Amino acid sequence: MLHLTDTRTRGVELIEPSTPGELSVYACGPTVYRFAHVGNLRTFLLTDLIRRVATLHGLRVTVVQNITDVGHMADDRGLEEAGEDKILSQAREENRSALDIARFYEAAYLADLERLNIVPADVAPRASESIDLMVELIQTLVDKSHAYVGGDGSVYFDARSIDNYGAISGNKLDALKPGTRFAIEEDPQASGRKRFHADWALWKVAGDTRTQLVWDTPWGVGFPGWHVECSAMSVHHLGTTIDVHTGGIDLRFPHHEDEKAQSDAATGTEVVRHWVHAEHLLFDGRKMAKSTGNVLLLQDVIDRGIDPLALRLCFLEHNYRQQMNLTWNAIESAATTLKRWRLKIAQWAEEPSAPIDETTKNAVVAAFDDDLDTPKAIQILRRLEKDESVSTGSVFETFVYLDRLLGLDLARDVGKPVVAQQLPAGAQALLDAREQARADKQWAASDQLRDELAALGVVVADSKEGQTWSLA
Ligand code: AMP
Ligand code: ZN
Repeated sequence: MLHLTDTRTRGVELIEPSTPGELSVYACGPTVYRFAHVGNLRTFLLTDLIRRVATLHGLRVTVVQNITDVGHMADDRGLEEAGEDKILSQAREENRSALDIARFYEAAYLADLERLNIVPADVAPRASESIDLMVELIQTLVDKSHAYVGGDGSVYFDARSIDNYGAISGNKLDALKPGTRFAIEEDPQASGRKRFHADWALWKVAGDTRTQLVWDTPWGVGFPGWHVECSAMSVHHLGTTIDVHTGGIDLRFPHHEDEKAQSDAATGTEVVRHWVHAEHLLFDGRKMAKSTGNVLLLQDVIDRGIDPLALRLCFLEHNYRQQMNLTWNAIESAATTLKRWRLKIAQWAEEPSAPIDETTKNAVVAAFDDDLDTPKAIQILRRLEKDESVSTGSVFETFVYLDRLLGLDLARDVGKPVVAQQLPAGAQALLDAREQARADKQWAASDQLRDELAALGVVVADSKEGQTWSLA
């Protein structure tokens, strides 16, 4: 069965559903104020892989993933501090309404999921359409004395009203000094705005300047905090026990820590059984973030003529728990492998059929079960590809079966006329020369030969296994 690293226990845990036969998963969704970058998409792939493995094991999986279309502030420092709502600042920048922005980027997000074969959530509640749930949850927290109305009329969670704050991130309250959690321009305790510096806003009064994305509630006209959105939507749609909660590693604190505090305090039970986080993606060695301009979109990959599923394969070649440095070389190399696999699978499909190779199948499923060890799974498949002791009919069946986990559309070309890729005249000599140049560490010559090959329509990529090529 599936095992995953649980950020809270800091160990690899067996994922046993609380309701036999059913697995419930809550995934923090995108903030729909821009196109998702491929780092975001790598994090969303984590949930898809969990779904696929659990489904293969016969579980009925329910994934709920919210759409954040209000309340996520520009600099992630917190609702009550500096920064504007991300949706509103983008609306201003693009001179469109907030809802226009939100619906446009939500549609773009769903299209990206489809192009990456990420199965969409079973339920995808929008924060802006779930305000009643948030008001109800906040009222419960006020009634239970876990929340209070602050000096500015906003409602705050009383961090000291619970005793296990910091269980996920290790950030205990007594170690959280003012200013470490949020950049504070004023002392909120001294101003009477909130009782304790680490308390956070659940509901924020809007003030005069904010006119969009506001709602009238018992606490006046305002808007919800990002953290309370996820508590309200997860508990409403999945109940008071959720098997797995996913998100990127940056959400561990404060987003998930605060969500846990709210959900547990409101329900009186520990709602989430396993917190699972995907490590961040770097691009060319630097953090991928809109703020630094180092952003790669799925569309950029497609614009280079690369199948978006090559990116999926590239992600699978790395473990979700490890930071991954993405490069164009890595994507191109994955594209070459993907093309080769599809071509071979189309060829193998013509051979006499044979049963699945059980040893390989079990090894790949075991790798997925072992904390989604996808690099190992891919290695096993690369070995099978070359294993002449297994009949091609059997290799075909095994690849096609395991594609349920991989999601690479490996049988896409089956039934199409199989045309082996033919190198244009002169290309082989250039490839040989380039291999030699690389062996001699003559990088300038190697780059020059790459350009000459590109001019012939041959795209080369370098990987640990050496140089590979495909036709542009
Ligand atoms: P956002 O749309 O900003 O709310 O982020 C959506 C998801 O992407 C969250 O789970 C983030 O933790 C995750 N995320 C943000 N940056 C990266 C990155 N560079 N690599 C991987 N995941 C990321
Ligand atoms: Zn969330």
